[in-house]
Amino acid sequence: MCRTFLRRIAFPSVAGSQLTIGVLALQGDVREHESVLDTLGVAHRQVRTEADLSGIDGLIIPGGESSVIDKLARIFEVREPLCDAIANGLPVLGTCAGLILLSTTVIGAIDGQQTFGGLDIAVERNAFGGQLESFETTIDMPVTGNVPVMAAFIRAPIIRDVRQCEVVAVLPNGDVVGVRSQNCVGIAFHPEVVGETRVHEWWLNSVVANVQR
Ligand code: GLN
Repeated sequence: MCRTFLRRIAFPSVAGSQLTIGVLALQGDVREHESVLDTLGVAHRQVRTEADLSGIDGLIIPGGESSVIDKLARIFEVREPLCDAIANGLPVLGTCAGLILLSTTVIGAIDGQQTFGGLDIAVERNAFGGQLESFETTIDMPVTGNVPVMAAFIRAPIIRDVRQCEVVAVLPNGDVVGVRSQNCVGIAFHPEVVGETRVHEWWLNSVVANVQR
């Protein structure tokens, strides 16, 4: 609570005050992302259909289960318009399963699992192991400032091949856990479940505010 309050003083102007951010709300930790956006004073809307995509300035793809989100995106017929919007420059932040859904190559995908594209990387699902190997840590993420960000890794992936992307987060052992392209940011961890707001602030101020659409 206190930390969030102090951060809001330290970062008084998220450029997002006039923005509307969509949160893909098919499965996963939608509410936690909405809560970060509320803390930052940024308007948001749940996205489940093609119509929900119109008028948003950026989209968050939450963590959850990437194969389930993929299937539901097809059932709700939002997959194709979403792929098109990302290819056309919609700013996106994907956390964990959201990162997997942005990747061009998935190692350990289930049969027929598809992604939306946006990050030209190969990502390995469940690369740390199962639920029991989940952990919380702090991680250096210089794009967000000098203070390490708080992060929860929950059945998290690791980025195994970075092709056309910029690396923005690396674990001390060298594992790449955050990348960005022109309009997409993907991180293997969850800042939103540990009360961390700086990754969202950086994405809003540096990616959403700057992407020409
Ligand atoms: N392991 C999950 C997947 O493959 C991702 C877990 C998460 O989003 N926390 O989709």
